[in-house]
Amino acid sequence: MSADALPVCSVLLAGNEKRYVDDCLDTGWISSSGSYIAAFERAFADWCGVRHGIAVCNGTAALHLALQALDIGPGDEVIVPDFTMIASAFAVCYTGATPVFADADPGTWNIAPEAAAAEVTPRTRAIMPVHIFGNPCAMPALRRLARDNGLFLIEDAAEAHGAVAEGKRAGALSDIAAFSFFANKNVTTGEGGMALTDDAELAARCRRFRNLCFPPDAPRAYIHDAVGFNYRMSNLHAAVGLAQTEKADVYRELRIRNGLLYRRLLSDVPGIVLQDIQPGCESVFWMNGICVRAAEYGRTRDELAARLRGRGIDTRLFFNGMHRQPALRKYGCDCAGAYPASDFLADNGLYLPGGSALDVCGIQRVCAEIAAFARPGAY
Ligand SMILES: *Cc1c(COP(=O)(O)O)cnc(C)c1O
Repeated sequence: MSADALPVCSVLLAGNEKRYVDDCLDTGWISSSGSYIAAFERAFADWCGVRHGIAVCNGTAALHLALQALDIGPGDEVIVPDFTMIASAFAVCYTGATPVFADADPGTWNIAPEAAAAEVTPRTRAIMPVHIFGNPCAMPALRRLARDNGLFLIEDAAEAHGAVAEGKRAGALSDIAAFSFFANKNVTTGEGGMALTDDAELAARCRRFRNLCFPPDAPRAYIHDAVGFNYRMSNLHAAVGLAQTEKADVYRELRIRNGLLYRRLLSDVPGIVLQDIQPGCESVFWMNGICVRAAEYGRTRDELAARLRGRGIDTRLFFNGMHRQPALRKYGCDCAGAYPASDFLADNGLYLPGGSALDVCGIQRVCAEIAAFARPGAY
């Protein structure tokens, strides 16, 4: 893209990242044995208001570890949103359990509690709400559903660092949560993830499964009582993560400022649909998603994307729903249901430029282009 092009995401590494990574290199502590791991786990768990953090190599691994720690496996079902990133469902597949899809709420774009309730069977073990684009799910309703049916709640908080619901931060709203620190996430280590839980026993199980189930008391005895995984994070990544966490409040405020500005400037454009945020919730706007209702906007989503691309503004289409994924159909998931809200999002949604480094002028330019391209009444 040209110099003044606006990317969908940019990375801010504005704190101690380089200093801490240099420290790893200077001291030779580059593996998962270095001291930045525990420091990063402590700092990020504290920032989220959760007792235990277990750092791993990516967010998908964190989700798998969370499911594994809850002893979810073959024969079990886990309810996941139909509208999510594929890793939410794949993590369930890794355990041998079956992901079951629930449609989105057309307003919040998150899993609809009533759709989740309709999917509960005697085999259901857990519900995995995903705070889509950093917008907190309807946790009270989902918690009630989990409690009434004896299910675990697992937050896929991969997009929601610092989001708030019920006066708590994402990650503190369920039995166990998983975060991603991929480069486009609100807190990043390049590649990385973390499981968070208040439950000491679950945390200990996560630590064991993360490290090939080496026995914690006698690691050098080399006797393993279960199949574990190597999901360890390196000290280099944790060094970046600690520096990012030190500045996480700053990055959070920037994302929120940008997200709210987008909402203000786009709220009057006919046919541009924004994500509803529930009262008492704070989204952290991981992505600035919009949907285009062509009948009102006078252009389709794809026409808008092409127009913006021509003006140096990068966009991306939304995920396709889980029921549209051949991999999940082959795995044995029931993909035959109707998911109208998820389909609407996949077919009409796109992300506008975002990232902590995006400035106010950039957002004004994007919104002016979108408003000017509208043709209300054209259809
Ligand atoms: C990014 C993301 C993940 C996976 O994280 P990785 O670090 O890329 O493995 C999982 N779930 C959701 C909803 C995500 O957005």
